[in-house]
Amino acid sequence: DRLVGASADGEDQAVEAALRPKSLSEFVGQERVREQLDLVLRAALARGATSDHVLLSGAPGLGKTTLAMIVAAEMGAPIRITSGPAIQHAGDLAAILSSLQEGEVLFLDEIHRMSRPAEEMLYMAMEDFRVDVIVGKGPGATAIPLELPPFTLVGATTRAGLLPPPLRDRFGFTGHMEFYASGELERVLHRSAQLLDVEIDAEGAAEIAGRSRGTPRIANRLLRRVRDYAQVKGDGFVNREVAAAALGVYEVDERGLDRLDRAVLHALLKLFSGGPVGLSTLAVAVGEERETVEEVAEPFLVREGLLARTPRGRVATPAAWAHLGLTAPRHAPG
Ligand code: ADP
Repeated sequence: DRLVGASADGEDQAVEAALRPKSLSEFVGQERVREQLDLVLRAALARGATSDHVLLSGAPGLGKTTLAMIVAAEMGAPIRITSGPAIQHAGDLAAILSSLQEGEVLFLDEIHRMSRPAEEMLYMAMEDFRVDVIVGKGPGATAIPLELPPFTLVGATTRAGLLPPPLRDRFGFTGHMEFYASGELERVLHRSAQLLDVEIDAEGAAEIAGRSRGTPRIANRLLRRVRDYAQVKGDGFVNREVAAAALGVYEVDERGLDRLDRAVLHALLKLFSGGPVGLSTLAVAVGEERETVEEVAEPFLVREGLLARTPRGRVATPAAWAHLGLTAPRHAPG
């Protein structure tokens, strides 16, 4: 697993429960989503009703699960957590839905990966709080209607565009989560440091934030590695120097690039003079699978404006030359 990967690993899962903000006011950043959600929840509370269904879209590690738990906490309701890939058959979904308590929040992560029949069952459940359970097979099969208690669905997806419009339309509120600014990640880090009993100063937090790829999950993970380093090599205190040295050991650079990211850029610049070069050729040059380069390394390099995907191949931007401390050849493409 990569230290700068955005998905949760086993260690993250163990620690994240302790680091999750418990209320909207504790949740850092995402001002717009927070403000809108606050209105939706307060209005529901004032009406004494369950909240509208909520769709959260955004990259992994930006706080979708955390917000779902906050929705439940703010509504004073229990929460059930499951995910699209875990629901293979419509029957799996029927079992979950029929066991919900009134007002319960159902968090469905990766909702775009649910099976088609389950998705269709969900339409009716969301709209009418009712499902048809099919009993039997073939011509003798009958649909038994089942009333559900009112509940709030919180769906999460990496991109709202991945959802079929009929599903998307059944959410009363959609929040788009953005990558976090450095200052926001610093606030996340100070908060986590306090909970983990780590002493850190402003510059130490800034140093880690700058390497965290706009993602709180990565910030929290880097903080734990820096804490280890500070305990073993120093007196436990995290300042800029300690943070930089620790993350240097793990080969995460000032901009959050790791070894793979830099290998891709390095090959592109040194072997292909900045491109354009085809993906397969680039992958061979770094000794990785095509998919690894395309899906693991490139998205962040593109987001950072270091690499561009063009019809003629991959091209380095001037920022890429600057980042690796190299000088572009005189007629460098890009
Ligand atoms: P997602 O469900 O989008 O993958 P999570 O909600 O699991 O992300 O968040 C990952 C980690 O980052 C959790 O430990 C959480 O505490 C932390 N985190 C995410 N967003 C915030 C935030 N806005 N403020 C503080 N911590 C956050």
